[in-house]
Parts: sequence; C-alpha cells; structure tokens
Amino acid sequence: MSEPNPMPPPVVEAVDVEKTFAAGTKKAYTALKGLNFRIEDLPGQGEFISIVGPSGCGKSTILNLIQGFPDVHPPTRGEMRVRGEEVTGPGRDRGMIFQRYSSFPHRTVLRNVTFGLELHREEHGLSREQMDRLAREWIAKVGLGGHEGKYPHQLSGGQQQRVAIARTLVLKPRIILMDEPFSALDEPTRYEMQKLITHLWHEVEATVFLVTHSLGEAVFLGDRVWIITNAPGRIGQEFSDVLPPTRDADPLLVQESQDFKDAVGEVAHAFFEIQAGRV
Ligand code: ADP
Repeated sequence: MSEPNPMPPPVVEAVDVEKTFAAGTKKAYTALKGLNFRIEDLPGQGEFISIVGPSGCGKSTILNLIQGFPDVHPPTRGEMRVRGEEVTGPGRDRGMIFQRYSSFPHRTVLRNVTFGLELHREEHGLSREQMDRLAREWIAKVGLGGHEGKYPHQLSGGQQQRVAIARTLVLKPRIILMDEPFSALDEPTRYEMQKLITHLWHEVEATVFLVTHSLGEAVFLGDRVWIITNAPGRIGQEFSDVLPPTRDADPLLVQESQDFKDAVGEVAHAFFEIQAGRV
C-alpha cells in the first residue's frame, strides 16, 4: 500500500519573526515582533491576504521579508519560510507590485513585459517569438491591447499599473506581493483595477499579500484581513468568516451592499481598537 501524500509545507510561514532596524545602535527600531502566521498550500487555488494597520507598523517590512529584499532581509529573530524553506533572497516564485509605477521609462510596454522573461531566459528556454507572444497575451489580459509600442510616459497612471501587473504575472509567480498598488490612483480607476485583480485571480491561482490603507479594498479583495498592531507589529486580529464572498464580483455593486458595509464596519471597529492600543 502506498503511503498517503504528506501535507505540503505552507506556502508562506512566519515563525516568531522579529525585525529591528539599525540593531545595536541608538537608532535601533523594532518594526515587527512576534509575527506568526501560516498560509497553507491549497491545491488549485491561492489565498488573498489583505494587510492593514497604522502607518509605520511594519506592513511593508512583512512583504520585504517574504520577498527577501536585501535592505530588510533577514529577520533579526525567527524565520520567514516559503514552501518550507527559509527565505534567503528574492526568487522567481515571488513577484512584487509597488505603489509607484516601476516600469522602465526607456522600454516600450512590450519590452517592459518581456523584461523578466529575458532575464530568466536560460531557465525557461523560451525563444524571442515565444516571449513576445506570451507578453502580448498578458498585455491583452490587463486590457492594454494596442498599446504594446507605447512608452510608460504615454500612459495614464492606471495603465502604468496595468503594465506593472502584466510584467509580474507573465512570470507566473506563486506568491504575489502588492504594496499599496492602487493608492496613487483616482477612485474610478481604483475600482477598475480591483475588478481586474479579481478577474485575473482565478487565472494565476497564486497566494497574494496586499498591503492597503483602504479597509474597503482590504475587505473586498481579501479572503483574510490582518490588522497589524502599532509597532512593533504583529497580527492583532484576523478576519475571514465575516468577509462576504466577492471573487469575480463587480466592486461597485458589492461595495454598495449592506453585508459588505457591515463587514467593513466590523473591521474598522477592530482597527481603531488596535490603533488605540486596546488590543
Ligand atoms: P508600514 O508599511 O506599516 O507603514 P514599514 O514596514 O514601511 O511600515 O516600516 C516600519 C518601520 O520600520 C518604519 O518606522 C520605518 O521607518 C522603518 N523601516 C522600514 N524599512 C527600513 C529600513 N530599510 N531601514 C531602516 N528603517 C526602516
């Protein structure tokens, strides 16, 4: 008789993570302490985790530690693990999307989207034609078909963020880290981007961590919402049961519903209790 498959290791796991910047100096600052979580590897789907919390509580630091970003990595104590392995630096399995448009100004949309593929050419072995075809597919998926030859300065903020999304998703990362990706956009464009993200979500089946200052966005996009405490940050409260299912739904319609407003109200109440230090 064959052995049953052992449980795969969690996609991402934080074990008692602590991060002190400038440790051992007068400027020492502990941004995170006692951060623990486990995101299980759900077959055929990923989880969407929204992270909110007071400014400076270490939200970006969490993403940077998962990413293995050299300025922040490693934790001062504890361990950040991806698929059971301690993070030692950035990897192709993790993609980051920032608030500020991170496209290369001197490259066209097409060449921005092929950039990562070109960088990892030896690993995936795609020809130039195959890379271009794949990039064009993703440019179409993010709604930028016809703009392949344009440069970033010829695009609106929302369009530039679409390029950033295509650039990241074309590489099929298993983990996507988004740091306030829509906060520089106006409200209607934000809704459009939320719609796009929920739509692309099924396609990539990745695990997503989204830092946002919008509680509505956190509740709309998240399967879970974490509220991080004042620094040193840790997860003060996690919500999952109260969140209405919103995948593939129209953000405007959902965000008008009473269930949604109730959920945001509940998260907001917890947020202010945590910010006031009562949790
Ligand atoms: P948040 O995203 O919640 O606003 P951050 O994770 O960006 O907070 O930062 C938490 C704290 O750690 C801030 O006080 C910030 O100044 C500090 N910090 C973040 N990154 C660095 C760094 N590379 N060097 C020194 N201090 C840092």
